[in-house]
Amino acid sequence: MKQYLKKHEWQIIEQGFDPHYNRISESIFSLGNGRMGQRANFEEKYSGDTHQGTYVAGVYYPDKTRVGWWKNGYPEYFAKVLNAPSWIGIQIKIGKHDLDLKQCKVAGFKRVLDMKQGLLHRSFVATLPDGKKVKIEASRFCSMADGEVGAIRYSITPENFSTNAVITLSVDADVVNKDSNYDEKFWTEVAKEAKAGLALVTAETKKTQFHVTTAMTYSIRSAGKLVKGKSKANKKEKYADNEVTIPLKKGVETIIYKYAAVLSSENHPKKKLADSAKKKLKAAATAGYDQLFAAHAAVWTEIWKKCDITIEGDIAAQQGIRFNIFQLMQTYTGEDQRLNIGPKGFTGEKYGGSTYWDTEAYCLPFYLGTSDPKVGRNLLVYRHKHLKRAIENAQKLGFTNGAALYPMVTMNGEECHNEWEITFEEIHRNGAIAFAIYDYIRYTGDEKYLSEFGLEVLLGISRFWSQRITFSEAKQQYVMLGVTGPNEYENNVNNNWYTSYIACWTMEYTQQALDFVRKDDPAKFNKLVASTKFNEKEETSRWADIRKRMYLGEDKKLGVYLQQDGFLDKELIPVSQLRKEDRPLNQKWSWDRILRSCYIKQADVLQGLYLFDDRFDNATIQRNFDFYEPLTVHESSLSPCVHVILASKIGYKEKAYEMYLRTSRLDLDDYNNDTEDGCHITSMAGTWMSVVKGFGGMRVKDGLLHFNPFIPDQWKSYSFRIEFRGHVIKVKVSKQGVETMRESGEPVQLVLNGNTITV
Ligand code: BGC
Repeated sequence: MKQYLKKHEWQIIEQGFDPHYNRISESIFSLGNGRMGQRANFEEKYSGDTHQGTYVAGVYYPDKTRVGWWKNGYPEYFAKVLNAPSWIGIQIKIGKHDLDLKQCKVAGFKRVLDMKQGLLHRSFVATLPDGKKVKIEASRFCSMADGEVGAIRYSITPENFSTNAVITLSVDADVVNKDSNYDEKFWTEVAKEAKAGLALVTAETKKTQFHVTTAMTYSIRSAGKLVKGKSKANKKEKYADNEVTIPLKKGVETIIYKYAAVLSSENHPKKKLADSAKKKLKAAATAGYDQLFAAHAAVWTEIWKKCDITIEGDIAAQQGIRFNIFQLMQTYTGEDQRLNIGPKGFTGEKYGGSTYWDTEAYCLPFYLGTSDPKVGRNLLVYRHKHLKRAIENAQKLGFTNGAALYPMVTMNGEECHNEWEITFEEIHRNGAIAFAIYDYIRYTGDEKYLSEFGLEVLLGISRFWSQRITFSEAKQQYVMLGVTGPNEYENNVNNNWYTSYIACWTMEYTQQALDFVRKDDPAKFNKLVASTKFNEKEETSRWADIRKRMYLGEDKKLGVYLQQDGFLDKELIPVSQLRKEDRPLNQKWSWDRILRSCYIKQADVLQGLYLFDDRFDNATIQRNFDFYEPLTVHESSLSPCVHVILASKIGYKEKAYEMYLRTSRLDLDDYNNDTEDGCHITSMAGTWMSVVKGFGGMRVKDGLLHFNPFIPDQWKSYSFRIEFRGHVIKVKVSKQGVETMRESGEPVQLVLNGNTITV
């Protein structure tokens, strides 16, 4: 745990430069706009420790799988988000020396992420090796108003000298992925151009053949006047720049404005990419930095109007929640059905930038509560588009008859993860995808979604469950063998309660969906039956039999559900008795030791009780919480939020608050010692849920919003906004009580602490 960042309601502030924290800060101060993003690397050269990272949404590379022992059924490749051409470079040479913070004395360093306006700002005074002192102020943003545009304002003021400086403004496609399996570079050059006022590189990804054009232009001003300077255009492999020599005068500020356009063949014909990029660049430069920034900041103002959460009396918690919302909103903007939310967003390469069950189980509720319903719908349609591949994926493993197994990790619908215990066994992800359809419809009321796309997906998933579940003669019950539940610290277990429960639930819901679509759109229903060769009678009667005779482990004496067969044979020693030196277990213990231990990585039985909490009474939730939470190490970022929500429900206020701090400041305080790899974007949605579903007790039942709020002792008040069926509702909770307000839309009924009110 590190606490080097300053607390502020709207800003993340790093005061003073400590190179040891640079990679962590590069993750935390990252910028994005849904289409592209980058780590908070310096614009100028930096020869110290850094992870340079620029990413373009949807552009990936299928890196050849690297595993020691090949298993039939493994996918051939592991898809990874590509470290893309960088447009931020502004190299400064003053006299003989490069401005390079590793080689300079640095004073007054301050890095600020302004979350209100989506701006990264950095200022410092550097003393070069020859004693020249220069003050730098750098600001940049990735435009939320136009996802293909970025801009930098970089100001230089000499403090004790006047001389010429050489400024190199570059576009660099000679980049490498940190996680490249064979140190291979993934880009080849297609075209480049360098002339006065323009540097452009079009690069192509190997194998996937995506094209990305990255182009830049600039202007330089000093004392209110345009500075022309002597300029030279350079090119080398996968690289183009403009090198400008300008005079710097003691005490006089010179400002460099750099504009970038980043266009990908996902959105433009390849042949037109370079021309379109130039047009975009010209428009950006004509508008100018201030106007571009105003349009960008206006988008943030609108976003915050809809989804800000305020917390009075606890600045750490306030900063934490805004940081989480900010990162989510700049990662996924929800217009493009081909895009999804990688666990690290645009902040790093770990997890390959691919789609996980995190999207459905954690992110969907956030976007439902804060955005237009079409955003949630697009997340669902993304999976519908991948249905064919999910069926192929199941076929590869031996399933038939249209059974669909969605991948654990994917870019385009194909599985691209190669650990047998996860790829083949962590199948609960299929349940989360089915649950998301239910969750979306419950929230939005868009039942038509079932006829349009939902039922087809549910059918494929239920078919999978019905084949994956087998009948045990010994038990005279159905069982599910060889699975990994959400708790990845157990593999190849039998009868993981959560997976079996969600499988049965899926078959139940699919039956309801069938009945609905049959009535709602008979033509569609008949078409689907024909296209999927659905033998309704035979298939649904097996589902019903499974639901009736499924083995769901339970210990009646303890009153708890069994995470899996044999769980109670383990030595059950609570986490509180582990030595500090043993944590985190995944960095300190052998995998063998972890597997045999009772320690739980993340909510497992409790994940089920969270999703289906309306089917269990509080006493049952409490017994299971009391049994499992003390054995949980929360070594997945996805864990604490589920515990906040359940702890809130059963009245464990202190526990809820403790877990909340952990989820909301996970990256800001580098809780798991891994923020340098990137931020935990998907779990940030869990932080939002912690406030809204946890402390606020928000649920949707029968088309109505319900709230059952409490306030942590440490807070004076908190408030959140919810977008719900055309209304924006604000809920403010203080020690004095609860206020609800309708900020837009018609009067609406909701249920507050069990009483129906009209807002
Ligand atoms: C968790 C998974 C999650 C993945 C990506 C893992 O550590 O155990 O549940 O899907 O991270 O966030």
